[in-house]
Amino acid sequence: MKVRIEPRDECLGDAICCDECPEVFAMDDDDLAYVTNESPDESLREAVQNAADECPAEIIIIED
Ligand code: SF4
Repeated sequence: MKVRIEPRDECLGDAICCDECPEVFAMDDDDLAYVTNESPDESLREAVQNAADECPAEIIIIED
């Protein structure tokens, strides 16, 4: 699984993804989310998927 946020400048800064999966998402100093682990373990798939599903900007991209 590969994870990225694109385009990052459309991030709304609500940190929902960080709440859903802090192992993969964090907020930078500009309140934009970034990916801390671009190839997370399969055990995190459900949490990453939840983050993507709940991202209001729909910018979290998961590739198998
Ligand atoms: S859930 Fe989406 S909009 Fe919200 S902080 Fe994460 S990437 Fe940004």
